[in-house]
Order: sequence, then structure tokens, then C-alpha cells
Amino acid sequence: MPFTVTGRVVALAGVAALGATLVTAEVKAETKFVSIGTGGVTGVYYPTGGAICRLVNKNRKTHGIRCSVESTGGSIYNINTIRAGELEFGVAQSDWNYHAYNGTSKFKDKGAFKDLRSVFSVHPEPVTVLVRRDSGIKNLTAIKGKRFNIGNAGSGTRGTYEVFEKAMGWKRGDLKLASAMKSAEMAGALCDNKIDGYFWLVGHPSGSTAETVASCNALIVPASGPEIDKLVKENSFYRYATIPGGMYPGNPKDIKTYGVGATFVTSAKVPDDVVYELAKSVLGNMDAFRKLHPAFKNLKASEMIKDGLSAPLHPGAIKAYKELGLMK
Ligand code: GLU
Repeated sequence: MPFTVTGRVVALAGVAALGATLVTAEVKAETKFVSIGTGGVTGVYYPTGGAICRLVNKNRKTHGIRCSVESTGGSIYNINTIRAGELEFGVAQSDWNYHAYNGTSKFKDKGAFKDLRSVFSVHPEPVTVLVRRDSGIKNLTAIKGKRFNIGNAGSGTRGTYEVFEKAMGWKRGDLKLASAMKSAEMAGALCDNKIDGYFWLVGHPSGSTAETVASCNALIVPASGPEIDKLVKENSFYRYATIPGGMYPGNPKDIKTYGVGATFVTSAKVPDDVVYELAKSVLGNMDAFRKLHPAFKNLKASEMIKDGLSAPLHPGAIKAYKELGLMK
């Protein structure tokens, strides 16, 4: 019976067509998980990752990416974990990106990480030296002989402290106590008088800095002097920086220091379409992004796509910036 046959054929074709639609729908809805390595929860990296993911996850229905944030030990941990393929993205200091990409300094033994890719730069990170008022520390040289936190292993802070220590001509034993607490523990330790001061690289204003100042009226000391001038002169990734007076109570004058920039990085192995979506979600929504943390207040898209980036831009990011008219 031709009708039945035809009917069956049509029905089968219908099922096949439906099947095809289902498959397409499944492919579209397939979730791609990406993780961003950040830092301690009271720093600025952690909320930076949170801000990026928030903008990305808003459009999950269209691109299928589920972005999440991990609190980590900081820059060097993030770079190494991206290299191992265990994190897709991370926030990292520009000095350690430079060394990772070029296989210098701390990255000499592992060799150059040529697959490191930049997505964009974020906020400046000045060297921030916070001390107890009763410690008597008013400048960098006075740190010698004191109880001082130099950053946890894996943090960019620790790496940059070691470079600073060498530039000052100090040995580790020149400190009375060199502690290696994570950033989230420093405010409590300083205010409980377990340490006289701490060194870290962070954007401003930052939660931990505000907490230290509010809890025990801590002082931010300038990081300047001939040794610092030499560091800035000899290393392209260091810049002079100022922590504005009045940003933190009890610290009314501008504080002269030096520092690096925070950058958002990935690996060449992360697919173009994923990097494209993350880059577009942030650079295409700068008004929203700037409102997500006070340290982002002065960010400009035109600077974020080039300033302080030591590794080449990922092709997915280039595609997004061309589409947004930020690049030719
Ligand atoms: N720059 C710091 C580091 O890599 C982290 C700063 C932050 O958590 O905001 O050690």
C-alpha cells in the first residue's frame, strides 16, 4: 500500500529530522567549563575573577560557557597551573608573565612557557608595605631586623619580594622573622602583633588593606630609594606608582611606591571561541565591568588590550577586539 509506505517514509524522515534538531540543540547546550585562578579572597584578584565570570555567565544560554573562580596562592601558581592545563585562565602579575614567557628568573629551570597568552591587562598593583605604627618602620631600610611577611610560595608577591630583597642587598636572615602567610591571614597577624609589617602587590582599594588599616590603624610606608630607582630603570615591567592619599583612613598623604600590573592570561591551547567570549564579555561591557570593583574605576579598554602585556594576545581575544573596533 503506497500510502502506508509513503506515510512511514515521511514519519521516519520526520523522526530523523527531529533527531537532527535534538542533536543540534544538545551540541548548543553542551556546557563548557572554564576556571579562573585568582588569589586570596580579600585581595583584588579574587573579585576580578568574579567580575569576569559574572559578565561571561550572563550570556551562558548563547555560548554555553560556565565560568567559575578559584581562590589560589596567586600569580606564579596561576601561571604554572595554566601551563599544566589544569586552569584555563588566571590573573597574574606582569613581571611574572614576562619571566614565564621568556624563561627567566624563577622560570629558568622550567624553561620558557611559549604558549602563555594575554587576554587583557587589569588594574595596577603597587608594592604595598603595611606596618604597625609601634614598629617604628617609616621607610624600606627600616624593615631590616623586623618581623615581616614576605608572601606565600606561589604568590607573585613572594617572587617580587625576593627580587626586592636582592636589590637591597639583604639576606633572608636579615629579617628577625620572615613569615610566609597567605594574603587573607596578613591583616589578623599584623593587628595581633605577630608581625611588624607585610609586603604585597595588590590593586587599590583592596579589602585586605582596608581591613588592616581599619582594625589597627596600620601605616602604609613609601617604597622608594636608590635601589628602587635602579629596579625601575632596569626592568621594563616595573613602574613608579602612587597610592593616593586619603584612600585609607590615617594615611592622608600620597604614598610613592613602584609596582607592576595585573593581567588576565591563558594558554594558546584554550580554544579561540572560548577566549573570544571572555574577552568580548569584558571589553564589550566596560561600563558594567568598571562598576564591579573600585580598583577598576580608571580602566580604559584601549589600554587594557596592550599595556603591560608581555605574552602575545590570544587569537580569540584579537578577534573580539577587532569586532569591538578596538583594533584594526
Ligand atoms: N599580586 C598578588 C600575587 O600574585 C595577588 C593580589 C591579589 O590577590 O589581588 O601574589
